[in-house]
Amino acid sequence: MLKDYLSHVAEREALGIPPLPLDAKQTQVLTELLEKPDQGIDQNFLLDLLVNRIPPGVDQASYVKATWLSSIAQEESKSPLVNPLKATELLGTMIGGYNVAALIEILKSNNKELATSACNALSNTLLVYDALNDILELAKTNIYAKKVINSWSNGEWFTNKQPLAQEITVTVFKVEGETNTDDLSPATHATTRPDIPLHALAMLETRDPNGLRTIEELKKKGYPIAYVGDVVGTGSSRKSAINSVLWHTGQDIPYVPNKRGSGVVIGGKIAPIFFNTAEDSGALPIECDVSNLKTGDVITIFPYKGEVRRSKNETNSGELLSKFDLKPQTITDEVRAGGRIPLMIGRALTDKVRTKLKLPPSTLFIRPGQPPASKYGFTQAQKMVGKACGLEGVLPGASCEPIMTTVGSQDTTGPMTRDEMKELACLGFSADLVMQSFCHTAAYPKPVDIKTQKELPDFFAERGGIALKPGDGIIHSWLNRMLLPDTVGTGGDSHTRFPLGISFPGGSGVVAFAAAIGSMPLDMPESVLVRFTGSLQTGVTLRDVVNAIPWMAIQQGLLTVAKANKVNVFNGKILEIEGLPNLKLEQAFELTDASAERSCAGCTIQLSESTISEYLKSNIVLLKNMIARGYQDSRTISRRIKEMEYWLKKPNLLSADSNAQYSETIEIDLNELKEPVLACPNDPDNVKLLSEVAGTPIQEVFIGSCMTNIGHYRAAAKILEGEGKISARLWVCPPTRMDEEILKKEGYYEIFEKAGSRMEMPGCSLCMGNQARVEDNSTVFSTSTRNFNNRLGKGAQVFLGSAELAAVCALLGHIPTTDEYLAIASKKVSPITDEIYRYLNFNEIPNFIEDGRVITKEEEASILQT
Ligand code: SF4
Repeated sequence: MLKDYLSHVAEREALGIPPLPLDAKQTQVLTELLEKPDQGIDQNFLLDLLVNRIPPGVDQASYVKATWLSSIAQEESKSPLVNPLKATELLGTMIGGYNVAALIEILKSNNKELATSACNALSNTLLVYDALNDILELAKTNIYAKKVINSWSNGEWFTNKQPLAQEITVTVFKVEGETNTDDLSPATHATTRPDIPLHALAMLETRDPNGLRTIEELKKKGYPIAYVGDVVGTGSSRKSAINSVLWHTGQDIPYVPNKRGSGVVIGGKIAPIFFNTAEDSGALPIECDVSNLKTGDVITIFPYKGEVRRSKNETNSGELLSKFDLKPQTITDEVRAGGRIPLMIGRALTDKVRTKLKLPPSTLFIRPGQPPASKYGFTQAQKMVGKACGLEGVLPGASCEPIMTTVGSQDTTGPMTRDEMKELACLGFSADLVMQSFCHTAAYPKPVDIKTQKELPDFFAERGGIALKPGDGIIHSWLNRMLLPDTVGTGGDSHTRFPLGISFPGGSGVVAFAAAIGSMPLDMPESVLVRFTGSLQTGVTLRDVVNAIPWMAIQQGLLTVAKANKVNVFNGKILEIEGLPNLKLEQAFELTDASAERSCAGCTIQLSESTISEYLKSNIVLLKNMIARGYQDSRTISRRIKEMEYWLKKPNLLSADSNAQYSETIEIDLNELKEPVLACPNDPDNVKLLSEVAGTPIQEVFIGSCMTNIGHYRAAAKILEGEGKISARLWVCPPTRMDEEILKKEGYYEIFEKAGSRMEMPGCSLCMGNQARVEDNSTVFSTSTRNFNNRLGKGAQVFLGSAELAAVCALLGHIPTTDEYLAIASKKVSPITDEIYRYLNFNEIPNFIEDGRVITKEEEASILQT
């Protein structure tokens, strides 16, 4: 084992990164070596492996470590290198999970030194879950258990840590303009995301190829590095993005291999999810004017005064460079606790213990404030979040912890979420429904993806989650079908934008927290209302309505495309949509999905009871078919079916009060929208009317992504039918296997194939850009969600718009004029809209429940009864 390990160390050293943490097998061999060390092996090296190179929490390796340390502490095994006291101390570094029961046992030891050590260890352990009750019980008779309880109630786990410093001196590393999460954590390297040091080598590889060398040079100035940018962290909700930033700029976390915390991120604008993931990781995110900050500047941040000044020993030392308001209110506690998540877990533990002891709440912590009472009513989103908090509504500015009813995880962030769940010592989900998909890696899996596809389903199902299969399709197209009206959820994909209820997507840390604990931290954002009136004009599709939102905002000066001093009325807010109550849920999701591109925190849409009832009836049949097909965890699926049936018996929907308050209201009259609207290269905010970009040659076209539904494929196929070969390369990728099956049955695949299209396996395909990619430097028309530089292909210039327009582009090889497009659409689509725009109502498909059955009806009946 050691020989192999050392050669692995050498390989990684050549890359400038540390070895991977030990796995369970290596840890097992290590414990044997620690019991009988070979003379030729450096004993300090063995000890270092034990202390520092095994992941904490509920990883399999940590199970082996905790079990072995416990046997040493209990003197059931012996090691010349680790005595019982040392073993107890090391159990105390394992954060929670498998070490907790072992430490509780040691509290009962007659050896005072050992019991005291276990007492110290537990006093600083927060992830104890139900074991709290065991310790409370033991405290009635055991003095050490009592000390642990007192320590928790006094918040010593918090007071033992250093408060946020009054002054922080850092060297600036600035990336001008916008850095999105794909720049920091490129999709092309998605498979390495769980391996933080390796993945971090790809940070900024396209955006600033010299960036990492510059950071290393700047470190020679002797200060930590602050990551600075005009706009930082837009795009996907990748915890890997902050992981990479902190790997290069943060500090090691004791006893946690290959992960760093702390660090400073300064942005003119910091995207809300990125801001939150920075908070979760214990970093200090600051939003302020960065125009006076340049790479190489040594600056001093005064967090409590809200000032950034040129540092001592610098020319013009003391010069005021920028001012800021530290936010949120709790940030100083978060940094002190090592992150927002450890703070919440620790604070909840202290509160719980004090309640049990009948003590008043601790005054140690900055408690999230509530905004003053308002004379206004609540918006739809404020009521939904209120319901999840047991309140009538939650006003903007309030900090709350809504119950998470539904949590989604996809495959490129799933392994990171799994690791975070292990670090949270999670052995069972508290959220009602947690789902894992395999949409991002199904089509062209690398060996590491195949490993993930094999291992992750069991990890989720064992904890009560639902695991999809590779080839099933896109996370959102599935998760949306599991939603309950007016409930709140989250997901580790920035496009987790529920069309039913509301979701606040997050990084893998907060998603793991939401799944494990069943709630999530939320600083309630303000809302922007978009109200539609009028009706869709010929040739104008819902995708054009999606693009009309930023288009109208630009007209009104509420959004700018330029990055310097960017204006974005939607940034960090909840987008609330009214005026389209009869949209089908698949259509509604086009609108909510695209709120990710606006950098919104969340999105709601007011829909009618009839449209929601139709959707739930269909979804119940899909979920029953999942049980028949043997999907796990079947009890979770069954529970969700019952909740849907319950809602259908008594339909009831929240809606905004007439005197609800919005930070902005944007009115869009659809009668005035007479032509398609496109997002142009390479920014989803860069929206223009079709007539402004007509004639642009197009080499590649993609029809796919979570922005599409079955109607789009029928419409696109009808446009291509009978027109011979297409002029541009066309990729077609339906969102789910059910769409694929029906499109095949209805003959639409044949039309696409005859036209010369490339058919892809259901999933994310080109949208993610980690699988197949378009030709370098090509001009592309795509129905996918976002067109950040290099996402679909290196140097690709990407237009985003409707499937209908995409099909016309594929046919002609260029973007049509409005007249060309309208002529084709009104000839080929308008006369048969009823046939084309039908949605997947599984309850109307004969015998759908039986499709692919692998379990007996008796087994199914017993599952449905549980
Ligand atoms: S289709 Fe695109 S936006 Fe949707 S989940 Fe997949 S990668 Fe994300």
